[in-house]
Amino acid sequence: MPASAPILNKHIDRILVDQKSIADRVRELAREITENHPDPSEPVVILCVLNGSIIFLADLIRHLPIRMMLGVIGASSYRGKETVSQGASIWHRLHTPIELTGQHVLIVDDILDSGNTLRLVRRTVEEQNPKSVATAVLLRKPDKAPPDVQAEYIGFDIEDAFVVGYGLDYAGEFRNLPHIAVLKSECYADADGD
Ligand code: 5GP
Ligand code: MG
Repeated sequence: MPASAPILNKHIDRILVDQKSIADRVRELAREITENHPDPSEPVVILCVLNGSIIFLADLIRHLPIRMMLGVIGASSYRGKETVSQGASIWHRLHTPIELTGQHVLIVDDILDSGNTLRLVRRTVEEQNPKSVATAVLLRKPDKAPPDVQAEYIGFDIEDAFVVGYGLDYAGEFRNLPHIAVLKSECYADADGD
């Protein structure tokens, strides 16, 4: 345990998903994605929704023995000091030489909450006429996710709490926690997610 761990841990109220459970589930998701690949002779464009999904993405793709390319898109639905979705917006469009037209696309996001972000990202992707589109999320808050926004691959269903860790932030911090945790309620005056 690094000497700095107590500094982060003192803000944690409880751990919802521990490090080992995440690692096991990410491997299972990768196996499902590999098995369901529409055409293994063709590559998949894996589209990472910044910023919260970078850790999930990094772990997931190293368990995917398939042809793939990587793209990123920036989208947020939490702004300023909010822990309630404010309506999604795209703040960074694809700046890669990767064309989505005619490609198999796998959108990778950290969490499906109100669904506003994934609805917008999926629509943005579909406008480019990809060959297929699927979505993988590490977490879903099932009580809030609307029926019209589905993810084909879901790591864990969690309670409706604002979580941090494994890429997810609170006011820009806590992305480096190895588990998914809920902070103590007094911490949440200044929450921000992306
Ligand atoms: P949605 O648009 O589905 O409401 O929210 C999706 C985005 O908001 C996620 O990609 C994530 O960046 C952020 N978000 C939603 N719920 C949480 C949460 O519990 N914690 C954090 N840190 N971010 C969240
Ligand atoms: Mg996000």
